[in-house]
Amino acid sequence: MRQVTLPDGTVLPALGQGTWRMGEDPARRRQEVASLREGIERGLSVLDTAEMYAEGESERVVGEAIAGLRERAFVVSKVLPHNASRRGLPLACEGSLARLGVERLDLYLLHWRGGVPLEETVEALERLVEQGKVARWGVSNLDVADLEELGPALARCATDQVLLNLEHRGAGFDLLPFCRARGLPLIAYSPLGQGGRLLANRRLAALAAGRGLSAAQMALAWVLGQEGVLAIPKAATPAHLRANAAAAAVTLTAEERAALDAIFPPPTRKRPLAMI
Ligand code: NDP
Repeated sequence: MRQVTLPDGTVLPALGQGTWRMGEDPARRRQEVASLREGIERGLSVLDTAEMYAEGESERVVGEAIAGLRERAFVVSKVLPHNASRRGLPLACEGSLARLGVERLDLYLLHWRGGVPLEETVEALERLVEQGKVARWGVSNLDVADLEELGPALARCATDQVLLNLEHRGAGFDLLPFCRARGLPLIAYSPLGQGGRLLANRRLAALAAGRGLSAAQMALAWVLGQEGVLAIPKAATPAHLRANAAAAAVTLTAEERAALDAIFPPPTRKRPLAMI
């Protein structure tokens, strides 16, 4: 599987696992946990969650999934912007650690930019690193100008987690080159377009079928083909998980990439970073 390297030298597999909407329905919980556990066993070690997801219940699902597998998992959580203050951040972090049942987060992200000054949030995140509650910190939904605002702290930022899929290619125009030049990997969220319109695209499905793939697998292989990008599709069933894991072994040909560009044209100018 392709890998990405964080600025501190940590090497991660480029395919991880998302967890938004997990923990919302008790009837689905067993499958969600089973899916995540199988993912870890298959080397999809990066598990992405957030205090926001299912009001903390997603973090509990991840906690169940990593039981006995902690050393093989790389746990990412995110703080809500209104909690990302000097006072609020340590409390939010304690809440996430407790729900996950871990002593330290591998990566802690600001979920999106809110009213708290970035400088204050970064200072509070770095205090958590000093205290050993968090191994490293990063951001999410920040565009190039926001990253530039981080100043020297950008060198200590581990990643920016942003919307990047065939339908939403804006980050590829300027943010991705900016991050690549600085050795900062992007985490691509919603790589399958949340299982909606993207996967229903008939031209994508036909192109994928020609290669023996599903639309989801081709969409994921496209994201995974971007250097310096780690993708975190959410699979709530082992069947989806296996399909996604198989896509990590697919390298698209130049002809397939060109055909995808014809269906989903690449951006030709800067637009504000899209977010969900
Ligand atoms: P995804 O693009 O990952 O799509 C998930 C949907 O695709 C689900 O309905 C899932 O179904 C379906 N699916 C998964 N695998 C397959 C497959 N092989 N074939 C067909 N359908 C499939 O959307 P998400 O929004 O969940 O994004 C991924 C993760 O990114 C989130 O879970 C979250 O961790 C993170 N995220 C971060 C954001 C941020 O602001 N930082 C914003 C949005 C997401 P099923 O559930 O039934 O398996």
